[in-house]
Amino acid sequence: MARPYVERHIHALSLAHACVQLGARMRTISYITGLTHTELAKLYPSGERVFKCGRLPASADWLIDKTNVLVRAELSIFAAIFCRLIDSDFGLSDAVVAGYKMYANMCAGPSRISFDRAFDVACHLKGIWAHPTASIALYPCPQCHSLYLSSIGNLSAASDGCVFCRLLARYDRDPRIQAMFPCRRVPVRSRHSVCALAHVKADT
Ligand SMILES: [Zn+2]
Repeated sequence: MARPYVERHIHALSLAHACVQLGARMRTISYITGLTHTELAKLYPSGERVFKCGRLPASADWLIDKTNVLVRAELSIFAAIFCRLIDSDFGLSDAVVAGYKMYANMCAGPSRISFDRAFDVACHLKGIWAHPTASIALYPCPQCHSLYLSSIGNLSAASDGCVFCRLLARYDRDPRIQAMFPCRRVPVRSRHSVCALAHVKADT
């Protein structure tokens, strides 16, 4: 049975406030909550300047070709969490907000992707909101079994290895990767440590 309007509206307001606290643009918040820009503007007086300006990218090219391996890894981690929440019966809006919080909490340092970028990933992944046609998907890597983002139909990781394979290959000599995925106390040199920390393995 559908929830009463008052409950849906209160939930939308709560989501909007959560999005603001995560640094979302007004356009993003409007998509997620269904509230109009006018309604959102009334919630936050202009003097508070809580909304960012600017546009989201129109395509997923930046995701596949124009980001470094560390950012791509974190995008895949967010996507895996987001999809897992959807599979657990979270609504799309709740899954974006909760998924981003979970992703940010598991980062060893400052997260590399903004809430707006995470929103864009959700759109391209599920074909919703700002991007009604899905253009990317999560695939299980045949080599390390992590879930990684790629354009739909691009299975090059079957032969080349995914973004997590590349992180693992560079782990011992790249301090940035070590800082991103600090080793646990045991077993320090496990080649599975990156994937285990990321919680994105396909078989878990
Ligand atoms: Zn891999």
